[in-house]
Amino acid sequence: TPTPSVKDLLSTPASNQPTVLNAWVRTRRDSKNLVFLALSDGSCLSTIQAVIDKEQGSWDEKLLAKVNTGAGIQVQGSLTASPGSGQAVEIQATGISLYGEAPQESYPLQKKRHSFEFLREIAHLRPRTNTFGAVARVRNAMSFAIHRFFQERGFFYVHTPIITGVDAEGAGQMFRVTTLPPENPPRKEGSTDFSRDFFGRPTYLAVTGQLEAEAYALSMGRVYTFGPTFRAENSNTTRHLAEFWMIEPEVAFCDINCNMDLAEDFLKFIISTVLEECREDMAFFNQWIQKGIIDVLKEVVTKKFARVSYTEAMKELEKAQDSGSASFDFPVQWGADLQSEHEKFLTETVYKGPVIVTDYPKEIKAFYMKQNGDGKTVRAMDVLVPRLGEIIGGSEREADLSKLEARMDELGMHKEDYSWYLELRKYGSVPHSGFGLGFERLIQYITGMQNIRDVIPFPRTVKSAEF
Ligand code: ATP
Ligand code: MG
Ligand code: MG
Ligand code: MG
Repeated sequence: TPTPSVKDLLSTPASNQPTVLNAWVRTRRDSKNLVFLALSDGSCLSTIQAVIDKEQGSWDEKLLAKVNTGAGIQVQGSLTASPGSGQAVEIQATGISLYGEAPQESYPLQKKRHSFEFLREIAHLRPRTNTFGAVARVRNAMSFAIHRFFQERGFFYVHTPIITGVDAEGAGQMFRVTTLPPENPPRKEGSTDFSRDFFGRPTYLAVTGQLEAEAYALSMGRVYTFGPTFRAENSNTTRHLAEFWMIEPEVAFCDINCNMDLAEDFLKFIISTVLEECREDMAFFNQWIQKGIIDVLKEVVTKKFARVSYTEAMKELEKAQDSGSASFDFPVQWGADLQSEHEKFLTETVYKGPVIVTDYPKEIKAFYMKQNGDGKTVRAMDVLVPRLGEIIGGSEREADLSKLEARMDELGMHKEDYSWYLELRKYGSVPHSGFGLGFERLIQYITGMQNIRDVIPFPRTVKSAEF
């Protein structure tokens, strides 16, 4: 049986029974004959205190000298009532084994508080800090909550390819897949394919799994993907990564309203689950990262999200601009995409909470969205939230083959590259909808973490510090 974790021990009543704990030393404090260790193993935010009484039993002074911040150790002892550590229990140590010491002159995680910029440079060690341990545990809980939400509602989890031939978003943000240059002479006699592309064809890392998810939705009804996606984001923002995880449900026989309901239910489910399952970590974020976030989230769960059209949203922005109550760097003009400053203004000042914006101009949205009768807008829906702006982009999909083809022609797209996708409209086409939610943005929203680089273990960006 595995040894108990810190979390296990902290929820066990003091028994004076023998116990062992494998953990890392967070801090060490010495007083006369006593050594106090705060021990962490990542199982929870809290550390547990271990007390070494050097007058009890025999201790190897040389070994004890190495039991310092960062060291990996095993403590043997008993779980006793704690008189003063702020916790019910502590470990009275009777023995210590050292797995690995951490030389103090170079170990970077000494007791002082470190900036997130600095911690980004040691992405391999930052999960040992309170903040990054908490982020990792919340990220884990959210991953499972996502699957639970969909599985309980009859969705199938489908795995869509990472290597793709088309730019489904049409945004030109693709990473090209190449093969390493062949060795000289060729490894295999007779091998002729020295093309650096994917067996002679240009391919890219997927920016979305949507098109393939549509194929499965149009066979199985309700599906979702949850996996990594890649975008060559050239700008340095706090909400864009080059590699991020996306959750993409796709539902047949579902129109834009059904899609909005799904998005709202989904967000509320994930938020309530995290509030319930990650109490200790959320209390930490509430205190240190985003003051009051718990109350804000509790309210979000109970209130209906505002739903407005893009045109109405533009009117609100214009009104604010004209009256001088807001000034924007980017012009507010029907037809232009919402910039994050506009999204923040709408969510923080106008609607004071999450907003679902629908019916965007077709020119600023992808080719696959269902066209409205006005010839100008499409049945898009973006979910915007305070502090971040867009966290979900979705739409009802164009199910009419001739309309879809006409739109692709207008955009000058190569229809041959999408022949299977078009066939989904040729054979048994039905209304269907879906959305893409950036997993890291949702983690940012829930934890209050300001920079997207700090909610994914090893961030990939233009300026990644650590690979
Ligand atoms: P943005 O306007 O913020 O660049 P987008 O409109 O390009 O986002 P979509 O194509 O609509 O993004 O993708 C769906 C969701 O994926 C977005 O709402 C967002 O939550 C997330 N997302 C998009 N790009 C990134 C990125 N580079 N890093 C992290 N998450 C992203
Ligand atoms: Mg983008
Ligand atoms: Mg956008
Ligand atoms: Mg979008």
